[in-house]
Amino acid sequence: MGVRILTSVIHIKFFINREIRANDADLPIKLIYFFMKQMIFGLLGLAFLACGAASEKQQEGKMLTSMQSDFPTVDYIMGKFDPAKHPDFTVIPTIYADREGLYLRKDVFEAYKQLHAAAKADGVNLVIISATRPFNYQKGIWEAKWNGSRLVEGKDLSRAIPDPRARALKILEYSSMPGTSRHHWGTDFDLNELEDAYFQSGAGKKVYEWLTAHASEYGFCQVYTAKGPDRPEGYNEEKWHWTYVPVAKQLTDFAQANLTDDMISGFQGAEAAKAIGVVGKYVLGINPDCR
Ligand SMILES: [Zn+2]
Repeated sequence: MGVRILTSVIHIKFFINREIRANDADLPIKLIYFFMKQMIFGLLGLAFLACGAASEKQQEGKMLTSMQSDFPTVDYIMGKFDPAKHPDFTVIPTIYADREGLYLRKDVFEAYKQLHAAAKADGVNLVIISATRPFNYQKGIWEAKWNGSRLVEGKDLSRAIPDPRARALKILEYSSMPGTSRHHWGTDFDLNELEDAYFQSGAGKKVYEWLTAHASEYGFCQVYTAKGPDRPEGYNEEKWHWTYVPVAKQLTDFAQANLTDDMISGFQGAEAAKAIGVVGKYVLGINPDCR
């Protein structure tokens, strides 16, 4: 169709040029040709605009489809993607974080800005010190502790604890197994200090009291509360680790339905995942209020 229109335009143009040259003095005819030309090119312009709009719409449709199919998948909840390249993620400006290069989901960050502003208005300064951590990042931390290149409580665990299950449990006191961390999801982050002592007095205590009183008003929840009847298993209490429930809830449900211990693999010590039951105890062992 496009080719046919173009061919006829070329024919008409050729005709017009020839005619105008032949009857150079004939002004009325020249004017009619001029208006014909304007009309044809005007119509062509409209046609191109319409084509452009249609293809933009197609692009939009494609983006929506890929976003929907990416969220959630098992690869997503295992952190097997690059947040710097994922369309749903944004880098956190350094006014909200202690360094450059931290990422959160865009929807989570929008909600976080509200939380941050409300805290600030009450004289509480929230600083994100860790956010999205992909599988490979977590693998680096885990394996260094597993093989002893990073000491845990001053010990080389590869020598101190030869039994894989016991060694993994020791590392799990501080670090997640690759593929099982909520830090993969872009919904969870750590605030201010990774030390319980910080939140016990002074400025830290004020931060924690503000969060426990107000974070839920903005959709946020402390994932690892003190262990007890409500949360018998999993990580110890982490007053610094918070999640955005409206999005994270969907991922928790998805993990419960789709993530199994067999899938936790691809790093040194992965064989302990099944022996521990890491998905049930650690991924799903969270504060019930965050579900
Ligand atoms: Zn954390």
